[in-house]
Amino acid sequence: MESVSCNTCGSSDFRSLFSKSNHRKETFHIVECKECGLVQVNPQPSPEEVASYYSEEYFLKRSDRGYDNYFSDSVKNEIARVFGLNLKDLGFEVWENSLPESKRCLDVGCAAGYFVDYMRRRGWDSYGIDIAESPVRFAREKLGLQVEQGDFLRWKSGNGQKYDLVTLWASIEHLHKPRETLEKIHTHLKPGGRIVLSTCRWGILAKLQGTSWRYLNVPEHLYYYSLSGLISLCKEIGFSETAHVTYGSGMTTKKDASLLYGFAKKIADPLVKVLDQGDMMALCFEKTE
Ligand SMILES: [Zn+2]
Repeated sequence: MESVSCNTCGSSDFRSLFSKSNHRKETFHIVECKECGLVQVNPQPSPEEVASYYSEEYFLKRSDRGYDNYFSDSVKNEIARVFGLNLKDLGFEVWENSLPESKRCLDVGCAAGYFVDYMRRRGWDSYGIDIAESPVRFAREKLGLQVEQGDFLRWKSGNGQKYDLVTLWASIEHLHKPRETLEKIHTHLKPGGRIVLSTCRWGILAKLQGTSWRYLNVPEHLYYYSLSGLISLCKEIGFSETAHVTYGSGMTTKKDASLLYGFAKKIADPLVKVLDQGDMMALCFEKTE
């Protein structure tokens, strides 16, 4: 475990928020930067230590934290449905239609390549990279995708070509160096190219629920951005925001839910979206500098 300075602003001045234990009975401290407000696990386990949490088990067994079976068709279809919704909410299609026929995209943290596959079907020259070995093998062998295994921060673009679109779906919260990753993405985008990212959102719902908040998965999730915190970080790097959406009331879909619960969820989910208070967020930025 290593104490780190704030990844957004470099400050080492933190306010302690709370501690939380994981399923291995290890305790992690969640702190908030006094300078910029970024909420983070600190001290942090090293990348090597975190790697042990992403064994094949993460994608196959731990349904409460990882996936029931990430490689099943039903998970793949559900994930594709969420991609579609997010892109629609971000007004993606209008921009996509303004691009020339040949367009390239890269999904960073692509796991089994479901978004790479989704974009290939949409007619893009589609690539992906992920640090975890088994999902990358699945993406290549079962789906025949152009996906590389490795650390994006050490990755070199094969032929130096730049991308129209880079995506980071529910990945930034897992990274040790999110700012550096966004900066590197910026250098690999064409002028006017876009980044689409989604992450859990440190906002009113998270604050109200504290340690029981559904996305407070330690230590897999190292960073918890507020909407304004993530927007100002991206602006500093040279992006301008084109759109964002927040969604999710925190009420999960339960098989044995009462009618009342189902009714409350039907109201809560659209309401938080309209009020821009969801605990998930998807954002789109354009490279302007
Ligand atoms: Zn900070």
